Amino acid sequence: MKREILVEAVNLRKLFPVTRGFFATLFSKKQLFVHAVEDVSFQIRAGETLGLAGESGSGKTTTGRLALRLIEPTSGRMLIRGRDIFSLKGKELERIRREMQIIFQDPYESLNPGMTIFDTVAEPLAIHGIGRNFAEREQLVSEALDLVELTPPREFFYRYPHELSGGQRQRVCIARALVLKPNFIVADEPVASLDVSIRAQILNLLKSLQRRLGLSYLYISHDLGSVRYVSHKVAIMYLGKIVEYAKADEFFENPLHPYAKMLMAAIPVPDPTSRKTRLTLAGEIPSAISPPSGCRFHTRCPRVMSVCRKMKPRLVAVGREHLVACHLFTG
Ligand code: SF4
Repeated sequence: MKREILVEAVNLRKLFPVTRGFFATLFSKKQLFVHAVEDVSFQIRAGETLGLAGESGSGKTTTGRLALRLIEPTSGRMLIRGRDIFSLKGKELERIRREMQIIFQDPYESLNPGMTIFDTVAEPLAIHGIGRNFAEREQLVSEALDLVELTPPREFFYRYPHELSGGQRQRVCIARALVLKPNFIVADEPVASLDVSIRAQILNLLKSLQRRLGLSYLYISHDLGSVRYVSHKVAIMYLGKIVEYAKADEFFENPLHPYAKMLMAAIPVPDPTSRKTRLTLAGEIPSAISPPSGCRFHTRCPRVMSVCRKMKPRLVAVGREHLVACHLFTG
């Protein structure tokens, strides 16, 4: 039986106006925009993970921020259990905000060095007015630290971030996200700044929390290895657009979009003596202020055809829940 759709993005678009210098505006009055996210749609079922992958500059983080309404869209809808979060106000918005949390890339940057672990984890409770007294808040903080395996919790209450390891600091960030008992978490490169030896522990923790609490994740990463490890579905983004969307098993078995194939080929080979030919990602991601015409990937694509420079490829189904935006598949 399919689980309910908890999160649904519908045609999300985000343009950021470009601030230009005095002389640039003298020569042209035209307002320029960074086309950060264009027509992005996806669904995440309860208890599942969508891995959102792509190089930096692909629009992953902006999509994650839109998903939590940390920024407003230019257009599009973001539904949580069928309700558009961009249309909510006041108490309703506050209530839904509790259900959605974020874990950032760098735990040291996202923790206030002057706050104890207790105050850090209890802060969202104070903001949302949860816990009738200190004893109740203490209980909730204890439960959250217990969930992230910082035990016994009370031993961590009065420590400061600098007294913890990188992995422990990320566990504190996860506890702070969990203390409000959310359903949906955006994990934005949550292991990118950690030692390789710690990464697997944090990924295993995220998976075990998902099993125990039924959490849905939008897992954002440039690292396809970790995306493969945690995701049920995968969306590949390039220059603000989703170019391939599929079940994780199917995607990693048979990536179709030329960009996805190049990303896959760029995953480090564990065996340094391997003779397997590796493609590298040629060229730089173009500017999102004036994206290439037609297919945005045409300036780097090894399979480019003349049609690619003129016509935008649509995201079309090539299998069950497998979509690709490439003229090679649209006939
Ligand atoms: Fe390459 Fe053309 Fe497909 Fe774009 S549409 S990925 S340029 S083959």
